[in-house]
Amino acid sequence: ELHGATLEMQEHTEQLRAELRGREAEIGKLRQALDEAHMASRTDPLTGIGNRGLFDERLAEAVEQAHMERQPLSLVLLDIDHFKSFNDRHGHQVGDVVIRLVATRLREMVKGRDLPARYGGEEFAVILPQTPCPGAAVLAEMIRKVLATSQVKLKSSEKALGTVTASFGISSLRAGDSVDDLIGRADRALYEAKHAGRNRVMTEEALAAEMA
Ligand code: GH3
Ligand code: MG
Ligand code: MG
Repeated sequence: ELHGATLEMQEHTEQLRAELRGREAEIGKLRQALDEAHMASRTDPLTGIGNRGLFDERLAEAVEQAHMERQPLSLVLLDIDHFKSFNDRHGHQVGDVVIRLVATRLREMVKGRDLPARYGGEEFAVILPQTPCPGAAVLAEMIRKVLATSQVKLKSSEKALGTVTASFGISSLRAGDSVDDLIGRADRALYEAKHAGRNRVMTEEALAAEMA
């Protein structure tokens, strides 16, 4: 009788183990699906680079870390010039190709811990940890030049559509800065870059020097 009961118990335990393995596999799959959904929720579908959600998340982290470690941090905002008239001339779909092109250039030229993202519409942002203002200006100027000198071409046609330029605003973290302070000063520098004629890089430092 005892032997019979032991056998039954062993069988039962084996059954429980198999069930547990099944559950573990299921949890693994769910976890992976959750990771993928999280990634997708932070990816811009048109360009494949990070979206505003990812940007907000990463900038908040970067600002906190830079303050904690007393390290520099710069932010670049970039806005495509006269894009409304480009869309009007060539159509929204061709405009989309240009947005993808700009994102591709950013992905090629912004590496490592630096993060490019689509901030919204025809605006992009680059977070540059451990980078003071002059370094950020050098990178922005490189990106500006590459955009300004490449012809936009559609795969379906040989005809070039001309060039597309962008304006850049740069701010660098100061003691006591909030995320909004940093974005606000980059935005103001961008506004000045537009005002000064577009297709140029404006830093908050240059802006302050001009006003002094
Ligand atoms: P500025 O040089 O002052 O930036 O002029 P702009 O025409 O680029 O600025 P404005 O803000 O007037 O217009 C932005 C345009 O960008 C209008 C909008 O249709 C276009 N745009 C925004 N998002 C997209 C997009 O996802 N695809 C396309 N094709 N166009 C977009
Ligand atoms: Mg804009
Ligand atoms: Mg624009």
